[in-house]
Amino acid sequence: MQRIISFLRHIVVLTMTTHEVRKVLLPSSGIGTQSQLIFHKYGPTGRGKKVYIQASLHADELPGMLVAHHLIKLLEEADKQNLVAQEILIVPFANPIGLGQNFLGKHQGRFSTASGVNFNRSFADPFQAVVKRVDGRLHETSLEENVRIIREALINELDERLDPSSGVKSVEEVMKLHLLRGACDADLVLDLHCDCSKFMVCLLCLAFLYLAIESQYALLTFPTSKLFTNLHVHLLFN
Ligand SMILES: [Zn+2]
Repeated sequence: MQRIISFLRHIVVLTMTTHEVRKVLLPSSGIGTQSQLIFHKYGPTGRGKKVYIQASLHADELPGMLVAHHLIKLLEEADKQNLVAQEILIVPFANPIGLGQNFLGKHQGRFSTASGVNFNRSFADPFQAVVKRVDGRLHETSLEENVRIIREALINELDERLDPSSGVKSVEEVMKLHLLRGACDADLVLDLHCDCSKFMVCLLCLAFLYLAIESQYALLTFPTSKLFTNLHVHLLFN
């Protein structure tokens, strides 16, 4: 009887956890090699708020990765106790391409050695496409419904761009689209960077969100520079 109870407890624990791991294979950047993005999701999907956290988009900024690693461990414990009430999506290694770049023993994680582009630049900007998709569909009064419509349009637009039939894209472009896709319907986005003294900063995002709370108009006129975080705030508040 004791063994049955123990077994049932084990099953209950298993069914209560919400942790899901999704691995996305990126296009091959060379014969015989293929990188993958790994998404960790906790909490219920589509109910309440969503938080998105990514680390080491500049792949040589390792403290963000360390923070994500420990956060995942803490979330796993919280999840086992059924304490994760909202959706949390974490990408602890947001740039597997940059993580694999080494030159004569020195890690090169900030710029793509293939294209020379800064990994935190040149994100796709789906803003105009989303404007067309939601044209005539937004409500005068229902903010929540508008948020739902805009997020749905963003997801559809990004899914379309990720479809292989939409045209040939570089592995960097596909990686950036997947990161945007994970973040585009989140209420809070944290893009973990660090400066050269390794002091953790949530670059731009927290400052922008503060601005959003203080003055929406400041964000309405803020130009997009196709940085990950900047772009995301631009999409959220325009
Ligand atoms: Zn950085």
